[in-house]
Amino acid sequence: MNKLGTETLAVRGGIDTDTQHGAVVAPIYLSSNYTFKGYDQPREYDYARRGNPTRSVIARSLADLEGGAYGVMTSTGLSAITTVIQLLTPQDTLVIPHDCYGGSYRMFDHLARRGLFKLVVVDQNDTQALDEAIALKPKMVWIETPSNPLLRLVDVKAICEKSKAVGALVAVDNTFLTPILQRPLSLGADIVVHSCTKYINGHSDVVAGAIITKDEQLGIDLDWWANCIGVTGGAFDSYMVQRGLKTLPVRLKQHQESAGIIANYLNEHPAVTKVYYPGLSDHPQHELAKEQQFGFGAMLSFELAGDIDNVQDFIEEISLFCLAESLGGVESLIAHPATMTHAGMEESARITAGISNNLIRLSVGLETVEDLIEDLSQSLDTVLSAI
Ligand SMILES: *Cc1c(COP(=O)(O)O)cnc(C)c1O
Repeated sequence: MNKLGTETLAVRGGIDTDTQHGAVVAPIYLSSNYTFKGYDQPREYDYARRGNPTRSVIARSLADLEGGAYGVMTSTGLSAITTVIQLLTPQDTLVIPHDCYGGSYRMFDHLARRGLFKLVVVDQNDTQALDEAIALKPKMVWIETPSNPLLRLVDVKAICEKSKAVGALVAVDNTFLTPILQRPLSLGADIVVHSCTKYINGHSDVVAGAIITKDEQLGIDLDWWANCIGVTGGAFDSYMVQRGLKTLPVRLKQHQESAGIIANYLNEHPAVTKVYYPGLSDHPQHELAKEQQFGFGAMLSFELAGDIDNVQDFIEEISLFCLAESLGGVESLIAHPATMTHAGMEESARITAGISNNLIRLSVGLETVEDLIEDLSQSLDTVLSAI
């Protein structure tokens, strides 16, 4: 455990790394290549796909925050996941949750269909199904908690214990909570991945990813793979993520304070039939959230009363929430999973998965919370008057 607080680590990342001029902000090295000192005398960096000083600084900062030994910066969140999957061979089994991020699911599914590895999809809260999957002695178990868009949690420590017992590696997609609100390596995981596109960068202007490992050699191996398949992160993107990271702890504090207020407000509203937010005491895993997380995050979903026309009216009435995919930026977003993030799913499968036509997802931003409540209130009144 690092003695410094998370705010200190986030702010100080990159400081004192410019040995030439002492720049307070770590400089951006745009150069694609680096000279050799002389014949057969390489320097630390030679070619920017393989290594870049700006990228190394943010990778180190993220590793420190997650309590890991090694960090790898990649071009996107999905390329971080693609890099981790290189550890699998056709004989290996990968166990994934049934409700993992859609882009991850599509990639796992299509690569498994090509025979690159065997894929087992389970509801990780179904103990019997999980135990059966782990009895297959998988090479890797994938975890994503809380899930999108229903904010279901799984017990990271318990799954890690079961996985370790059969020698499986555990990888956790920690995008929704970031190391500020959840540290999977301390719960027994081997690998953490992030879409830095979301909260870590936090300003909706970069697509980037990261991998952090508990074991240094595993991190070095994944760094080798990221270069091998050509998915390492760009210098400018790395700089932007470093800049975003400095305010991550303070942003998340406000994000989740506002999310809690909005969740409570929606929970009481007659035009809302259900709210999914781990901070509500009636959330099925509220106790687990208190135990394994350092906060409840700022993503929430709810079911609107009425039918699909009411959903459309509600979304058209809203003005301070942008109708957009993605999450974790300073601006509040509203999404309708059935027609947006989960539109590719067969309707019956989607409904079975709990993603109804009336489900609405919010990424709560940093606007004045009273303004957000007022905006929701006006739109909800429109729905109430129509049903
Ligand atoms: C967005 C997201 C990803 C993919 O990240 P990109 O940066 O879009 O490639 C992976 N996992 C989760 C949970 C996400 O929200």
